[in-house]
Amino acid sequence: MADDRRDELEAILKLQRDAFTASRPETLGMRKDRIKRAMALLKDHGENLCKAMSADFGNRAMEQSMLTDISGTVGAGKHTLKHIDKWAKPEKRSVQFPLNLLGAKAEIRYEPKGVIGILSPWNFPVNLAFAPLMQVLGAGNRAMIKPSEFTERTSALMAELVEEYFTRDEVAVITGGPEVAQAFSSLPFDHLVFTGSTATGRKVMQAAAENLVPVTLELGGKSPVIMGRSADFAKAGERIALGKMMNAGQICLAPDYMVVPDDKEAEAIAGVSEGVANMYPKLLENDDYASIVSDRHFERLQSLVEDARDKGAEVIEVNPGNEDFANANQRKMPLTILRHVNDEMEAMQEEIFGPVLPVKTYRAIDEAVDYVNENDRPLGLYYFGEDTDEQDRVLNRTISGGVTTNDVIFHVSMDDLPFGGVGPSGMGSYHAIEGFKEFSHARSVYHQPKIDIAKLGGFKPPYGKATRKAAANMM
Ligand code: NAD
Repeated sequence: MADDRRDELEAILKLQRDAFTASRPETLGMRKDRIKRAMALLKDHGENLCKAMSADFGNRAMEQSMLTDISGTVGAGKHTLKHIDKWAKPEKRSVQFPLNLLGAKAEIRYEPKGVIGILSPWNFPVNLAFAPLMQVLGAGNRAMIKPSEFTERTSALMAELVEEYFTRDEVAVITGGPEVAQAFSSLPFDHLVFTGSTATGRKVMQAAAENLVPVTLELGGKSPVIMGRSADFAKAGERIALGKMMNAGQICLAPDYMVVPDDKEAEAIAGVSEGVANMYPKLLENDDYASIVSDRHFERLQSLVEDARDKGAEVIEVNPGNEDFANANQRKMPLTILRHVNDEMEAMQEEIFGPVLPVKTYRAIDEAVDYVNENDRPLGLYYFGEDTDEQDRVLNRTISGGVTTNDVIFHVSMDDLPFGGVGPSGMGSYHAIEGFKEFSHARSVYHQPKIDIAKLGGFKPPYGKATRKAAANMM
């Protein structure tokens, strides 16, 4: 990367950190004002941002973008505004005997960290830049955002709008490709939030480690759907279809594969297929159905299917309108269900991130649990069924970032639940109070009383009887 780009990044970081330091302490009113400006930016320019996202994807429904990227993100701002006074209050902590009787006091103050870097992906390009921003600002920080190069028009528009609504020392958007992203991740931020793939997350954490920059990693993975025998397969199928078809499966929490009872496989596949047909009677001639973001991503998905076919999978295309995808030239792909899958297939090794749905079968529910446990800890896990003992068994014996039962994805939309992964699907979380705390420094403050505690406690040399007594008491 040209040195002048690196100089530019370093200069913005310095500008923001200097402004941050000079303006402390800032009022909560100032933080609220910044959140309100971020919300106003989204409200005033939502339609243009949705148009840019559709142009970047090839096609993406305005209504979908409005829901997922604009109103959902304004909602994150509203939630932060509503709770910020309570979240930001210092927290009294107890002081142990006998210091409590002598007037000592202890508290935690949630203080801003400084300048926080936000590195975001293309799949929800506005949401995944601005939703963390709301909490970053709520915690009193400044922010530098580097959005994805795959959604170029959206990134350019975000840069332009941020310049209009914020001063450069408050929030700045930096556009550019992987080299800029790499330089960005190596800046000595006070914290870095990365949303993207596990592979890139590993590089980002390595780069951040050079400067001991703490990271929040919001990564991906293979989120399983475990269907119990007691599931309502028609209803479950429709919900899985909705979660898998929205944004054409390009969602970090999209159901990646299903594990179903062997005698219910046909019913489970029929449920999902009918769900798709009900919501999308046509796919090509249907603006509600998104395109795959780029030729490269489209080819990767095609090759996952071919690889599975070559290795013995049965491939079922769910094409309700009998449309000709081969000659469509639109980067649209029908839901493609894979039966008889095994671990040799790439579709069972990497995150799918598109409309391909492998189906595995089990005889006893523990086989499904064991399979999840043998693989990387997923971002989301979904259980369908009415058998609460079985549900407990699945939840108590697996580990995942989050869980939705009897549906998919929905846990991310609960304002008061933290969102994040575990192990290879991420670390740290945001949303809810956990997000505010993630972007704050929990500063321990202890107030010593007037009385000479050190002497009383036997800490003061010359050591003697009082010291020995204190040591014995502590045990
Ligand atoms: P990606 O990892 O390819 O890119 C994400 C960001 O990283 C982009 O801004 C890119 O410019 C930057 N980047 C690329 N190379 C880099 C490098 N060497 N060093 C530093 N930064 C670099 O991810 P993507 O393809 O944009 O997004 C899809 C992935 O994101 C999927 O794995 C998905 O599961 C995950 N995701 C996770 C969440 C979540 O909240 N957990 C949300 C959405 C997407």
